Amino acid sequence: MNGFTDRTAVVTGAAQGIGAATAVRLAAEGARVAVLDREPPKDTVEQIVAAGGQATAYVCDVTDRATVREVFATIAQELGGPHILVNNAGITRDDLFFRLSEDDWESVLSVNLTGVFHCTQAAQKYMVAQRYGRIVSLSSRSALGNRGQANYAAAKAGIQGLTATLALELGAYDITVNAVAPGYIATAMTAATAERVGMSADEHRESAAARTPLGRVGRPEEVAAVIAFLTSDDASYVSGQTLYVNGGAR
Ligand code: NDP
Repeated sequence: MNGFTDRTAVVTGAAQGIGAATAVRLAAEGARVAVLDREPPKDTVEQIVAAGGQATAYVCDVTDRATVREVFATIAQELGGPHILVNNAGITRDDLFFRLSEDDWESVLSVNLTGVFHCTQAAQKYMVAQRYGRIVSLSSRSALGNRGQANYAAAKAGIQGLTATLALELGAYDITVNAVAPGYIATAMTAATAERVGMSADEHRESAAARTPLGRVGRPEEVAAVIAFLTSDDASYVSGQTLYVNGGAR
């Protein structure tokens, strides 16, 4: 794919799962990757460097606005750009709505939606100045509604509205803004969900696979491939979209 040479990509929540797979894929395409997470994302960086790619680890909690600004300033100074931002950091705190605590509401909104606000606002400053940017945020199929996930669904639907609006505001600067909305992807997040509902990870995946037209759950690399397309110059005329990556489920 085109558009990664001499470009800096920032991926949040990239210590594991979809974020790690995305960082690995963007590095394989030729980007310099800033790998962000709450704890030092050493494994992801080591994997990229071992494959001959360029990656640097940064500790960054996306809920902390001041830290986000500092980290993006450091990335701009050390790596240039940023040209590409993947807002991937996310958490779940599932419960039925009638007993959903304020803490679980606030923490999910804070990481999944306010974190995207913080990182995108920090990144757009550099992107507008350089008249170039590619922003992709992780929404979810749950944005359409999912029992026990009122907080998460609200945050992930919020990302779709934010994406559509930022495409309008930032398009004049050659900045595209899109979202991907995965269905069930086998990661630590879905394994934790399985545990919460009293199923093994395998049982939980099998039941999700049975509801999916492709007959299986997704892999982090399959989401990373779509993000790579949307952040490439091959997708230069795609903006304001949410692309569902869910094995054909309706
Ligand atoms: P994982 O739980 O495997 O990885 C999420 C990463 O984000 C972890 O490394 C986590 O760190 C990090 N993180 C959490 N909070 C913060 C924070 N405040 N600041 C920085 N990093 C943070 O999740 P997935 O890979 O499964 O999911 C990635 C994204 O994709 C999320 O936004 C998720 O909502 C979305 N998604 C996932 C789906 C799936 O089926 N897996 C489906 C649809 C959407 P730590 O471990 O320390 O908490």
